[in-house]
Amino acid sequence: MNETNNNQSSNTVQPKRTRRPFGNKDGANPRAAERNAPTAPVRAPRTNPNPRGSSQRPGGGRPQRSSSPRTRPQGRGPQAGSPRNASAAAGSRPKRAAGRRPQQRRRPDKAPALTHRLGINEAQQHTKIPEITDEDTVRIITVSGVEEIGRNMNIIETKDDIIVVDAGFQFVSEAANAPGINYILPNTQYLEERKDKIRAMLITHGHLDHIGGLPFIMERIGNPPIYTQNLSSLMILKRQEEFPQMEPFKMNVIKEGEHFTVGKTKIKTFAVTHSIPDAMGVSIETKHGDVTITGDVKLTHIDGEVDKLEAQDWINVGKNNNLALLCDSTNAWQSGFSSPESIVLDTFDELVKNATGRLIIGTFASNFERLFALIESCEKYGKKVVLEGRSMKTNVEIAIHAKLLEVQPGTFIQGHDIKDYPADKIVILSTGAQGEEFAALMRMSTNKHKFITLNERDTILLSSSVIPGNEISVQILKDNLYRQNVKVVTVQSAAIHSTGHGYAGELTWIRQTVNPKFLIPVHGHHFMLKSHLFSAVENGFPKENIVVPDTGTIIEITNGEDLKVLPMKIPNEQLMVDGFTVGTRQEVVLRDRKSLSEDGMFVVIATVNSKTGKLRKSPDIISRGFVYLRENQQLLSEARVLVKRTIEQSVDGQHPIDLEIAKEEVMNKLSGFLMQKTSKNPMVIPVLIGI
Ligand SMILES: [Zn+2]
Repeated sequence: MNETNNNQSSNTVQPKRTRRPFGNKDGANPRAAERNAPTAPVRAPRTNPNPRGSSQRPGGGRPQRSSSPRTRPQGRGPQAGSPRNASAAAGSRPKRAAGRRPQQRRRPDKAPALTHRLGINEAQQHTKIPEITDEDTVRIITVSGVEEIGRNMNIIETKDDIIVVDAGFQFVSEAANAPGINYILPNTQYLEERKDKIRAMLITHGHLDHIGGLPFIMERIGNPPIYTQNLSSLMILKRQEEFPQMEPFKMNVIKEGEHFTVGKTKIKTFAVTHSIPDAMGVSIETKHGDVTITGDVKLTHIDGEVDKLEAQDWINVGKNNNLALLCDSTNAWQSGFSSPESIVLDTFDELVKNATGRLIIGTFASNFERLFALIESCEKYGKKVVLEGRSMKTNVEIAIHAKLLEVQPGTFIQGHDIKDYPADKIVILSTGAQGEEFAALMRMSTNKHKFITLNERDTILLSSSVIPGNEISVQILKDNLYRQNVKVVTVQSAAIHSTGHGYAGELTWIRQTVNPKFLIPVHGHHFMLKSHLFSAVENGFPKENIVVPDTGTIIEITNGEDLKVLPMKIPNEQLMVDGFTVGTRQEVVLRDRKSLSEDGMFVVIATVNSKTGKLRKSPDIISRGFVYLRENQQLLSEARVLVKRTIEQSVDGQHPIDLEIAKEEVMNKLSGFLMQKTSKNPMVIPVLIGI
């Protein structure tokens, strides 16, 4: 949905985390993890061939939305969606209490939060979701993408068929507080349990928050046939090259406007405008009317007057009996109509024409329309184009392959040839406008780029909105750029960016044209969905016919009239991609990672005479990220004494000696002691060896 997310992260090469050399990376007390995890069936971790690779996926950035290439003038591009708030899971983690929390803080087997969380899941597990048994009921499930930006997925289900619409993922930002997690996926457990009923995976467009989850989930849900348009299919297949060992997708390339039938269900498609070409909406026919899904959408318009061709498409959709409309809400909180992309393209044309030095444009690699227009302007004014950044190159390649873009020979030059041309003949299209650390723009700004050294004659255009969560990295990028004394043009100083998601005025126009009986706002944070509701009600839509869904909400409409929200949800715990692992049970791991990052770790190794219970020598201590040991010798020796005394007291009189109990004791006492002395609560790992 939101390109924004996409991009930013996509281009980003996340700094790799260095693996710690030491052993049990799941945490101090492995048993804790084991004990807690089992409550619910643990998903077999999937091996993902090349997870890292995927983070730099070719399409690296999330594709933005560009809409139909040059055919329609368009509105603004990426909107300001907030990026990923992946945080959910992470966010829910209990923050460490500021004060002292004595002993309970060691890696207990039952951290309150964890137990609580498992409890919820257990309850969910036992709530049986009834199957649909009659022809008159249609079920709509908002799997994810409704309390967040990213990982969009919806399910439409009848008695006989399940149709899945989109399978996005979400990037994990720093703000998400989920260290080390690569992506968050829609939870597919409901689908996995009903694999045989899935007839199709419909993909509305090629942004990563709509296609990014495919490599990780398709096998889990039985690899159903995919239906999508050309460009989206190419983007999907390009990414899939990174997962060569996977079963090939059953790809069906369709054209917007086409109808087809899967199982007993007829599906109609229609063109929509978004910030990527080949975006479409879908209508799924059911006995009592169509369930229509817009995908990400905006309108092509001039001062609120919708483009005639585009209006006709929507009017045609409105001629059907639309039972329910699932509609993009990303910009529902903004009133009126969004500004058209055509204005942006005009601005760029002027800038390219008038540039007297090098022009370096940082933008979302997935904003195809903008790239096409820029390249065309360059050709018009005899400028050479340099593509910088992997996703930029890949997307241009895909566009040429899809015949969306034709480039005159000689327009593109390589970075190392820049020096052969006058500065005013050079335009560089670069990734990294969100300040992604390793992206091309950041490298230029820090003088680390292989071929491009910035100078005072250069002009940099940052052609994207700042995705919430990226403010700091963009700030750093800007500081670095200004340090090079280049001229920087931002969205604030010129019309160089527009959103791909319609504002409330556009959504109202769409809703009134489609004329659905029920409205289900999707794609966006809760406030966006709720804003969508308010705007609809203000414009005369009956409030009782709107459901603002949450992650995993199950909505049923019977006989085309009776709408109810089931009391239970589908399993909706976050499915995470963590290195080679894909699973839902990452909480324990994450909790430990966070604890380690806050307070470090403290390992005590003691060798105990298993006959006498005496320590063979003073315990060894290893610590990381806790306190600077060299300056805390006193603390260390007190800790050694404490450990020795604790163990010897614990095993005193035991035959045979039970080191497990001693270990617990050491953990408790030592955690309390360290907290008291330092106000820090490191992960304490006692290793007791009986000899
Ligand atoms: Zn999108």
